[in-house]
Amino acid sequence: MPSLSNPSEIAREALRLLAVRRMSPSPENYRALYHEIAGIADVSGEPFPERELNALLASLPRETPVQQKLAKRFGLALKGGSWEKIQQGIGELVREIGKEYELPWSELLADFLRQWEGKQAGLTVARKRESLERVLAGGSTNRELFFGRLQGLVRSWASNAPVADEMPLVAAETAAAQTAAPPADASDTPAITDGVSELSTELRDLFAYTLEVVVATQLDDEPDLAANARDLAHKVRTATSRAAIDGLLAGVKRFTFRLEILAEDRAELRAGLLKLLQLLIENVGELVVEDHWLKGQIDIVRDIVAQPLSIRSIGDAESRLKEVIFKQSQLKQSLNEAKEALKQMLAGFVDHLAEFADTTSDYHDKIEVCAARISKAEDISELQGVLAEVVRETRIIQLNAQRSRDELRAARLRVEEAEQRISELQAELDKASTLVRHDQLTGTLNRRGLEEAFGKEAARSQRRQSSLCVALLDIDNFKKLNDSLGHDAGDAALIHLATVIRETMRPHDTIARFGGEEFIILLPDTSIDDAQTAVVRLQRELTRRFFLHNNNRQLITFSAGVTDFRSDDTQASVTKRADEAMYAAKQAGKNRVLIG
Ligand code: GH3
Ligand code: MG
Ligand code: MG
Repeated sequence: MPSLSNPSEIAREALRLLAVRRMSPSPENYRALYHEIAGIADVSGEPFPERELNALLASLPRETPVQQKLAKRFGLALKGGSWEKIQQGIGELVREIGKEYELPWSELLADFLRQWEGKQAGLTVARKRESLERVLAGGSTNRELFFGRLQGLVRSWASNAPVADEMPLVAAETAAAQTAAPPADASDTPAITDGVSELSTELRDLFAYTLEVVVATQLDDEPDLAANARDLAHKVRTATSRAAIDGLLAGVKRFTFRLEILAEDRAELRAGLLKLLQLLIENVGELVVEDHWLKGQIDIVRDIVAQPLSIRSIGDAESRLKEVIFKQSQLKQSLNEAKEALKQMLAGFVDHLAEFADTTSDYHDKIEVCAARISKAEDISELQGVLAEVVRETRIIQLNAQRSRDELRAARLRVEEAEQRISELQAELDKASTLVRHDQLTGTLNRRGLEEAFGKEAARSQRRQSSLCVALLDIDNFKKLNDSLGHDAGDAALIHLATVIRETMRPHDTIARFGGEEFIILLPDTSIDDAQTAVVRLQRELTRRFFLHNNNRQLITFSAGVTDFRSDDTQASVTKRADEAMYAAKQAGKNRVLIG
């Protein structure tokens, strides 16, 4: 064939060849002939767009195994420069996308329900629930993955051998009644199907457990009701007929009615006890009016019992009342001793006074007799005897007077000593009593009180797996405030800070004076970030509520360290960490809260 170069000649020749070779006149055939005549080797005529396709490849998602597989195949096709393979890959991709929407969910759910309700060797409901929760927590964002995991779980349950009596027994009522003897082991519980209602084994177990463990254990002081709960639990497990279930339902109704009555009785009893407690406290309050501190403690207890009660508030009231009782008894004892001493002294004094009066009137009588004898005396020798008697009598009375004066002086000394002892005892009690748990100046807990509160809060946090935070506050430049305004102003500033802390923190946070101008706050059920936020809020509140001294506003700030109580912590170790964080806050410029 002559080589043609003119495009119109090539086109004409291509048309001619289409007819000669009896080829269908499609654009592809025409183009192929055109290229053949023109002598062009590359039949596609266009360069393979490798760069653009590579960019497309890079943008493909690779999140699921299927997507990864397709992207890999697409990459291989690009390397080979083959349109055909790319075509295949895209076709496959479209088919796979379709498949994702066609996951056989209904089959899987039917399988799931079958396995969930069935009993398999070595698998309890609790274990099934646990593994299901793991799957639910893991795969909810990706349908395909979630489907695969759920399918795997159901298959693993199915691979456990089924328990022989697992299938529901479809039994006639009479047959069920004949087998009414209760099985010894609860795990042998027969399923119930009487055509009307069917309690699932699971629900039955749960109900029986609730009655036997949860309800019965709450009824320790009501043995009758506790026995009733256990009996009902047994019936829940063993009721196999319609009649037995009806009996059970009636029994449960009667039981709940009895429980309602009991709850009402208990509420009444609690209200009565609370009223009694309030009356007692009112009464004690009247008795301790002369002691400021005792009165303060009683007022706090009165406030506590006026609020809705909680375990914490009851504990607080108890510890404060214990202190009042202890201090009252100590004071009463010393006051009784002092009273007794005064009584004895008074009695002694009256005796002496009477004796003195007797001797003085005796003396007067005797002197009168002597005076008469003197006036009647006729010679000096007679006078000599009378004078000697006057001198003797006067000396006796003098001695008596002196003795009485000495005894009175000694009595006065003893009274002074007794008074001194009482005030010393009171001061000693205020300062160092091992039973007192509250700081006398600020009313917050002292170290001993803190130790007790910490023990309770730490145990509670471990028991409930809840977090407990500890904050340690130290007033900034307190020495300067003390030096410039005086110690009393310093004391008033401490009281002010304690008041602001108490009114800003939550009621169940514990506040203690840890040292001179240091306070500790325990924050139960609080994350470390929330604890920091709470202490920062306290800081702001303190700058808002000025401390007034002689009508001058004084700004008090503090630095604080906050930390959380960890499983291997002791009170000492957690306090040390809070102290280190507080020290770091001081180093960083004071008036700030750092986490340790
Ligand atoms: P910083 O900011 O570094 O904490 O300095 P500061 O002055 O607050 O701390 P420093 O430890 O130097 O001084 C604490 C002062 O607190 C010393 C003491 O006189 C005073 N203080 C301790 N207990 C009491 C108290 O019960 N009443 C009064 N008024 N002052 C107290
Ligand atoms: Mg300090
Ligand atoms: Mg300080």
